[in-house]
Amino acid sequence: MRITVVEGDITEQDVDAVVNAANRAMRGGSGVDGAIHRAGGPAVLEDCIRRFPHGLATGDAGWTTAGDLAARWVIHVVGPNHTRGETDRSLLTSCYVRALEVADELGARTVAFPLVSAGVYGWPKDDAIAAALEVFRSADTRVDEARLVAFGHDTYDAIKAQLG
Ligand code: ADP
Repeated sequence: MRITVVEGDITEQDVDAVVNAANRAMRGGSGVDGAIHRAGGPAVLEDCIRRFPHGLATGDAGWTTAGDLAARWVIHVVGPNHTRGETDRSLLTSCYVRALEVADELGARTVAFPLVSAGVYGWPKDDAIAAALEVFRSADTRVDEARLVAFGHDTYDAIKAQLG
């Protein structure tokens, strides 16, 4: 699997699936979650309600339609809320592991990821990057490209530095 990084907005990625940094309720939110629901339109929320009546557990992933996005699917993951004391790192790596498993179930070959938990959920950015790259580097998957989408230039530089 190729690991790539771009600076930009995850809703504008031309990939098979985009990953959403959702919350357990799976009914929309702020940050990436809000942007994906706005750009994808009401079909995304309708599918979340239909397919996930009880939401999703922290560390898990599940897919819905991507509605009006260029992508075909949204793979929702629930990162740990570091700010609220959820500091178990395996919950963060699990998001990436599970997202790739769901991508394989769907047959998605190109997948764009945000830096899960690194926004409102307050995970330290450098470690959030390290967690994503660790999983990508050891992944056994049919996904061809894992694309990390950096929201801002500083984040892009930080990811580039760790990618080497
Ligand atoms: P969480 O609640 O899991 O922390 P956030 O959406 O608040 O999720 O933030 C996760 C990361 O995504 C942060 O690094 C944030 O800057 C970034 N981000 C916010 N909006 C977008 C977007 N539209 N596209 C890509 N990344 C985004």
